[in-house]
Amino acid sequence: MEVTEAKKKVLELRKTLKQYAYEYYVKDTPSVEDHIYDKLYHELVSLEQAFPELVTSDSITQRVGGIVLDGFSKVTHTHPMLSLSNAFNQADLEAFDTRIKKLTDQPFSYICELKIDGLAVSARYENGVFVQGATRGDGRIGEDITENLKTIHSIPLTLPEPISIEVRGECYMPKRSFVALNKARDEEGLPVFANPRNAAAGSLRQLDSKVAAKRNLSTFMYQVVEPAQYQVHTQSEVLNYVDYLGFQTNPERKKCLSITEVWEFIETYQEKRHQLPYEIDGIVIKVDEFSAQEEIGYTVKAPKWAIAYKFPAEEAETVIREIEWTI
Ligand code: NAD
Repeated sequence: MEVTEAKKKVLELRKTLKQYAYEYYVKDTPSVEDHIYDKLYHELVSLEQAFPELVTSDSITQRVGGIVLDGFSKVTHTHPMLSLSNAFNQADLEAFDTRIKKLTDQPFSYICELKIDGLAVSARYENGVFVQGATRGDGRIGEDITENLKTIHSIPLTLPEPISIEVRGECYMPKRSFVALNKARDEEGLPVFANPRNAAAGSLRQLDSKVAAKRNLSTFMYQVVEPAQYQVHTQSEVLNYVDYLGFQTNPERKKCLSITEVWEFIETYQEKRHQLPYEIDGIVIKVDEFSAQEEIGYTVKAPKWAIAYKFPAEEAETVIREIEWTI
């Protein structure tokens, strides 16, 4: 492909993806399914890799995708809230393993966690008291959702110790709440949400916290900002610590010593995902040891020491049937 042709295609893809991102992140009403977005996104990544001169800092590949809504106070994250790189098959996963082994000489293990299909949130505590909740937003600046997070029972208002800490994780809507919410909206003649993720995002970004309170949202937390301050040195320890602090963490996780073991975990949950009471769209694989993570480092938008394996797309009808079956 000639550079002029590539440039035309790159601009086209950016325009389409920008529109889809707006519908998804701002309106909470995506017009295409995620796998279609992902395919176009990866087409853009491949073109930018083949023609690096076409990469611009405002390209969607160089930024965390969210957009900050007007109407909310803004929160500047002390540490950016990043996205994750994606893997779509076993070969992508093996390439990730090879990359990691080139980037560190330290012995390391992986930890597999479920990729909860919700939206990333942060909860900040001062002297053991909850003081601020925020969305990921564009990764640098998020929306202040303190009052809405306070309505979620799995977010403790006080911690067992008077520490100052920022805990991050995923806010989601359980399948049962999603079906009930859409049924009620349908009866009221209101538009229904496309999926639990969009319903969670729409609910959390309500200016009236009474509305959010009625939506039965929940959270799984999985990250602590500046973990060394709390004497935790691995992702496994973070999850145990966050549990101890009174948050909900996802119990379906596993430390793996090889990428083969990681693949077994993925296959297990690809089968089991429909039996879970919440939606997952993949598995997140992280290097467990922070010393190795630091050596491996980050890109502008995601850690290099982690990857999100995305499950293959399913027929929409199957998903709806499974959701109905599960509740
Ligand atoms: P992502 O969803 O691929 O992965 C990053 C996110 O995973 C994190 O920010 C975090 O919120 C979440 N996550 C869930 N469980 C986690 C765990 N255990 N550990 C760490 N993180 C966890 O990336 P993204 O930037 O949030 O969103 C991009 C994706 O959104 C696209 O791949 C696409 O599927 C979807 N999207 C769809 C449309 C559309 O029109 N359908 C538009 C824009 C984006």
